[in-house]
Amino acid sequence: AWADAIGPRRILLASPRSFCAGVERAIEIVERALEMHGPPVYVRKQIVHNTHVVNGLARRGAVFVDELDEVPPGAVTVFSAHGVAPAVRAEAGRLGLRVIDATCPLVAKVHAEARRHAARGDLVALIGHAGHEEVEGTLGEAPASTVLVQTPADVAALPADRPVAYLTQTTLSADEADALAAEITRRFPDARGPHTDDICYATTNRQRAVTRVARDADLVLVVGSANSSNSRRLVEVAEQAGAPAVLIDGPADIPLDRLRGARAVGVTAGASAPPAVLDAVVAALRGLGPADLAERAVTVETTEFTLPKEVRP
Ligand code: SF4
Repeated sequence: AWADAIGPRRILLASPRSFCAGVERAIEIVERALEMHGPPVYVRKQIVHNTHVVNGLARRGAVFVDELDEVPPGAVTVFSAHGVAPAVRAEAGRLGLRVIDATCPLVAKVHAEARRHAARGDLVALIGHAGHEEVEGTLGEAPASTVLVQTPADVAALPADRPVAYLTQTTLSADEADALAAEITRRFPDARGPHTDDICYATTNRQRAVTRVARDADLVLVVGSANSSNSRRLVEVAEQAGAPAVLIDGPADIPLDRLRGARAVGVTAGASAPPAVLDAVVAALRGLGPADLAERAVTVETTEFTLPKEVRP
């Protein structure tokens, strides 16, 4: 693909990129559970939305299930980083499972907001994407008082019989969340919401960094799996910043046809995509012909989360 070379290429790495603190914590929880209890350790849903992570842990003895009725009674079971509805916790209790909760603390914070608003009698408008596991978990906190909002039409359809509060999924694009939050506050000027939104630091930083890179790139490659919300948003954000962007799960997906004529190639990775996969993508790009590497950093991340007590040494 470099064959039509117009001189050496430039690879622009976005920073921050790849794993966030919530994903690192979730993976470490499964690894420690495997060490402490031995395989199998059951994990409800994909621990994080990445095929490499899931396959790697499965090889070491993690068993991924869709629902808890697939788990034998009493087994060690990890809840994924995306969080679960209270009904799932209750079912785990009924089944006598030994639960270790890998819900990201920043998702748990949104759940707590949902409970607080609902307890006050508010209608809770949750800005998010239908079917995503995080959204299903948050909706489950107060199902009778929570409505999913995906479009301005959904805002227009909200009942006006109670005070309104709103929350957002942690991995939305900032523009998308802002636009819907603005619709809500236009229709309900007293609506209670988070200060800006609930989009987490890692999503925000990766979106800022890819924006920075996209401005100088002819093509942006986003490393991440197809079901990763934050990775898909990085593709959209890069395109809004003016560069065509492609989501790739690994080096095998590098779109050689799209590289033709691309002098500067931006590379980033979603919060669930391992740094080693991104490194392999960069190595593959460099294998195609001469390329120099530059980084565009917008901030340095220092966030860390403590592990749950069940897996602390
Ligand atoms: Fe937590 Fe944000 Fe990472 Fe999701 S993307 S696991 S909310 S830090």
